[in-house]
Amino acid sequence: MFELVGVSPTDAQKKASTVMGIETALAKASLDVTSLRDPQKTVHEMSAAELASISPRFQFDQFFRAVNAPEFSKLNVSVPDFIKGFNVVLATRSMDDLKDYLRWHYVSTSAKLLPKAFVNENFSFYGQVLSGVAELRPRWKRCVTATDDELGEALGQKFVEKTFGQQGKQRTLEMVHEIEHEMGQDIESINWMSADTKKQAQIKLHAVAEKIGYPDKWRDYSTVTIAADDYFGNWFRANEYESRRDRNKIGKPVDRAEWTMTPPTVNAYYDPSQNNINFPAGILQPPFFSNNAGNAINYGAIGAIVGHELTHGFDDQGRQYDADGNLRDWWTAEDEKRFKEQADCFVKEYSGFSPVPGVNLNGELTLGENTADNGGIRLAYMALLDDLAKKDTPQGLKVDGYSQSQQFFLGYAQDWCENVRPEAARLAAQTDPHSPPEFRVDGVVSNMPQFGEVFGCKPPSRMIAAKTCRVW
Ligand SMILES: [Zn+2]
Repeated sequence: MFELVGVSPTDAQKKASTVMGIETALAKASLDVTSLRDPQKTVHEMSAAELASISPRFQFDQFFRAVNAPEFSKLNVSVPDFIKGFNVVLATRSMDDLKDYLRWHYVSTSAKLLPKAFVNENFSFYGQVLSGVAELRPRWKRCVTATDDELGEALGQKFVEKTFGQQGKQRTLEMVHEIEHEMGQDIESINWMSADTKKQAQIKLHAVAEKIGYPDKWRDYSTVTIAADDYFGNWFRANEYESRRDRNKIGKPVDRAEWTMTPPTVNAYYDPSQNNINFPAGILQPPFFSNNAGNAINYGAIGAIVGHELTHGFDDQGRQYDADGNLRDWWTAEDEKRFKEQADCFVKEYSGFSPVPGVNLNGELTLGENTADNGGIRLAYMALLDDLAKKDTPQGLKVDGYSQSQQFFLGYAQDWCENVRPEAARLAAQTDPHSPPEFRVDGVVSNMPQFGEVFGCKPPSRMIAAKTCRVW
């Protein structure tokens, strides 16, 4: 990259090792990925003066003024040790080293917007080396992604117009309510939670807000200048706009109507600090949802995702927030202990899964997502059984050769039907709090005796866990 901006090969090599040295020092001062999931380790309120005292080499007060930050009295310094490590870098590195570091970051961040040589160099490392991708995606796909990244709610309006019907929204909302009802029943039935905590859990469950499809109020991009002949400038101005929009939230009440995913995104999320679940229009289409599919398929496909997001409010991370989204522990020490015992079963089970030879999953890192997958599918399954009973539809009723229950599991498996290269699987095993698709299917259903029953699996079988784990 340095060579591409005109540095001689020898100097480029030196500068590259400077960058690597600074990155390594900053990485060592960072929290590991597993700890980053623990809000107790990432919430540290400080005054600006306290922040200044742990980073004397960086004038944060000048920085806040330079970026036009509104006045504030305290801030969350997520990882104080990182700021201290950052201060050490500033104290021990020369000004030239710091300039080289920032220069590389500037070029690297914008590489995708620069001429072909930069695009290819960027791809050869992040695409090929790190992820094993064989070839760069076609230009039009990269352009659509860039538009989604930079002007997501403008692209989103068009996406919603073309793909998202009122019927989809209605059916999803009904399913969400049914699965919330099942979660309420489930909380009452579990034996590891105390009666008082159950009451609190019900309060939290009833306070969950549901957001489906797209925001009520679209982001206003009218102040962003987009010019047909200035790709780099467009990207720069769109980022500037987002950065300003974020800074202007300082000192204002939380906007609970805001989305952190764009409408075309094929994903969903639970926000613990707002206690809401969010399903962008992008995930409310096949294979996750179809207006033409029967309920059994839809419950298995999108229903399990709905259940997944809902349980996030009660997993090892989400349970530390109350119904209003404040970081406040509402569990007794005994509940916590028993929850941990149940959850440890998943930690052990998933730590035994290996996506590529020689690499195992990190059961602690993936715990929240695994609990959500396992709990989510159970809630969706109970909701389907209730739905079938209400309509007097027998569970064994076959459509296209499969019973209702079998269709449910097929719908679920279709969610995760994808190919992953070994390089990407290796990287994900070390960094991604989600298990890879293979185990999101096989790991989950092997914990459900119902799966073995409806497909006639005989023990011992890979599809029947020796010890079935369950929290929800
Ligand atoms: Zn999740």
